[in-house]
Amino acid sequence: MWIGVHVRIGTGYAKAIEYAKRLQCTAIQIFSTNPRSYRTSAIDEAALAAFRTMRHEAGIEKCLIHAPYLINLASDDPKIANGSLNLLKYDLAVAKAGGIDYVNTHLGSYGKRDRNEGFVGACRLLEAALEEIGRNVTLILENSAGAGSLCGGTLAELGRFVKALDHPQLGICLDTAHAWAAGYQIDSQRGVDDFLYEAAEQIGLDRIAAFHFNDTEVPLGGNRDRHHHIGEGNIGVEGFRALVLRPELREKIAILETPGEEADDLRNLQTIRSLVASAEVPQSAGTPASW
Ligand SMILES: [Zn+2]
Ligand SMILES: [Zn+2]
Repeated sequence: MWIGVHVRIGTGYAKAIEYAKRLQCTAIQIFSTNPRSYRTSAIDEAALAAFRTMRHEAGIEKCLIHAPYLINLASDDPKIANGSLNLLKYDLAVAKAGGIDYVNTHLGSYGKRDRNEGFVGACRLLEAALEEIGRNVTLILENSAGAGSLCGGTLAELGRFVKALDHPQLGICLDTAHAWAAGYQIDSQRGVDDFLYEAAEQIGLDRIAAFHFNDTEVPLGGNRDRHHHIGEGNIGVEGFRALVLRPELREKIAILETPGEEADDLRNLQTIRSLVASAEVPQSAGTPASW
């Protein structure tokens, strides 16, 4: 897997690359702007070109932009819908300018709106965003924690978007903490097998571009979005082991959005890497099949 963390770029692209390099990341995720604002600034082509070069020199092959949290594609308020589309288009343009492979977005909330009507509205905005997408950029939709009116809490609903939009540059990102909060019991081999079986049926594994690897202390189906250190929450080491063991996921990206500082990032990355290393041991005689 291509493994890395969400990196802050508040102090500049160079510092962000330095940080990710120190942690030996092969993938990173960034915000292109303040994730809690509708305002965007002019696209700095030169800085983005330099970022692209630095990134490749550091061996960070995969990069995702996480679109702002304010985005709500399912809203019936035209101001929110238009503002969301603008933010999404901006991040797609930044990705194009910076040779960044993916833009990851939340879908938002239907609020009091009829779900079918909201779904159609969200599809229209996504279609508009996809019209201007750069050739090498993929737009990815992230699953939500599935509370009441939230959009994208189930694999079935994400699959509906993939089928309705039917666009080659549309993918899905599965956040493990959100999946758990939405009721998917991915804390064991069996649970992960069921989850991925359903993901394959509803979405297609080839459409799943990335994972957000986060543990969580929220109870199963608790519908709350709280991230915790890998292996120290309810998903636990067994859940992540089962995920990294799957050969179909070997070429996928895994970004950690776990809390804390550098030491925490390092510890969380080491936990994932040790699980990946154990998965890469050849299955020789004497190795249990379920290893
Ligand atoms: Zn997210
Ligand atoms: Zn996430």
